[in-house]
Amino acid sequence: MKSQYDYIITGAGLAGLSLLMRMMQHPFFDTAQILVIDAAQKNTNDRTWCFWEKEPDIFEPIVIKKWDHVSFIAPSYKSELNLSPFVYKMIRGIDLYTHVLSLAASKSNITFCTERVLSVQNTQTGARVQLKNQTLTANKVFNSILFEPVNVLAQKSSDYFLWQHFKGYEIKTETPVFNDGVATLMDFTVDQSNGTTFMYVMPTSSTTALVEYTLFTENLLADKDYNEAIQAYIQKTYGAVVYSITHQEFGQIPMTNFCFSGGAGNIINMGVAGGQVKGSSGYAFHFIQEKTKAIIADVVAQKNPLRTPSFSQKKFGLYDAVLLRVLQDKKLDGATIFTQIFSKNPPDRVFRFLNNESSLIDDLYIMASVPTHIFLPAALYALLGVKRRRGLN
Ligand SMILES: Cc1cc2nc3c(=O)[nH]c(=O)nc-3n(C[C@H](O)[C@H](O)[C@H](O)COP(=O)(O)OP(=O)(O)OC[C@H]3O[C@@H](n4cnc5c(N)ncnc54)[C@H](O)[C@@H]3O)c2cc1C
Repeated sequence: MKSQYDYIITGAGLAGLSLLMRMMQHPFFDTAQILVIDAAQKNTNDRTWCFWEKEPDIFEPIVIKKWDHVSFIAPSYKSELNLSPFVYKMIRGIDLYTHVLSLAASKSNITFCTERVLSVQNTQTGARVQLKNQTLTANKVFNSILFEPVNVLAQKSSDYFLWQHFKGYEIKTETPVFNDGVATLMDFTVDQSNGTTFMYVMPTSSTTALVEYTLFTENLLADKDYNEAIQAYIQKTYGAVVYSITHQEFGQIPMTNFCFSGGAGNIINMGVAGGQVKGSSGYAFHFIQEKTKAIIADVVAQKNPLRTPSFSQKKFGLYDAVLLRVLQDKKLDGATIFTQIFSKNPPDRVFRFLNNESSLIDDLYIMASVPTHIFLPAALYALLGVKRRRGLN
């Protein structure tokens, strides 16, 4: 392996491989020497991504299922939402890794290296990547590795922090039970005693679905608690259907108003490490696509991809902080908040809002849906930058 590259991508997860895919699609990078480094070989199906978009993007060929309707279910409200102009889509992790890496293997200017990255540092003319037995340099490093656990980072700065944690079963039933035309985005008719808790059901056919038990809380559960909750939900919703579990996944995503570094000098952070997880929802797919598009546009235009946050990014960061404050301080439960938002707004407004694409008018409608006496003080705290005093777990 050489030691000098034009670009090094550290971390070949969603952010690293989205950037690589966009580089491979742009002639600007045809002759650039690109190295991609990941500790893992990226050959396991470790996650499923779902996201909504209006227009097909780079991963359209590997979308395995699309829905134009989703349901929202809560004890006091139930609705089937027409997502138009959005479409909700599902991609399997292994399909994305294989798709991008097999294309990269056919390009002589791209090298993939399976190694643990110890650090990334700026140099006077570029950046340095430290491996166990080798130091590599590049003009720019695009980094999606978090070198310190995110909850420790958030704790240091007294920011709000919840885990969005979930366990999912992909199941196959012996008889048809699912309506695969409608995905269940949130079903809050489950026990809420741990905090905001809902089931997420993505049917891929009448006999197959991803059924995920999701919580927004400070602490994780024991594995058996996730299993029992999923099994109880399947029985409650689909009766005594016989099913087998074909795949399982577990995830924990930070929900925080911690200010992640976008990078410095010639190191550009992206993905979870670059702050592209939406603090109040845990969704990251869309934001990672937007970030990698922006990086490519800047590099091609020979502009610095390090940008100070825009007014719009600050605005949505503030909204996220407000919702997190309300949730973490248990001023109002998530089931009530999401019920009020979904029941009082058309779906496209809510999905624009969740994608950080809503207008100020949209935002005012969403704000008017939730109780002012709870959200206004939280907004004032967030605006004034008042830190929380309680310790984090
Ligand atoms: C199970 C799961 C399901 C999710 N589902 C959704 C979803 O449906 N919709 C959505 O919007 N978001 C979802 N997310 C959130 C988010 O989209 C993912 O976490 C996404 O993978 C984040 O991309 P990333 O590139 O930042 O991190 P990752 O994809 O985790 O990539 C980071 C990479 O860095 C590598 N790495 C880490 N440390 C080192 C090191 N020291 N040296 C070398 N390599 C290293 C890892 O092996 C990994 O490949 C999900 C997350 C999980 C965990």
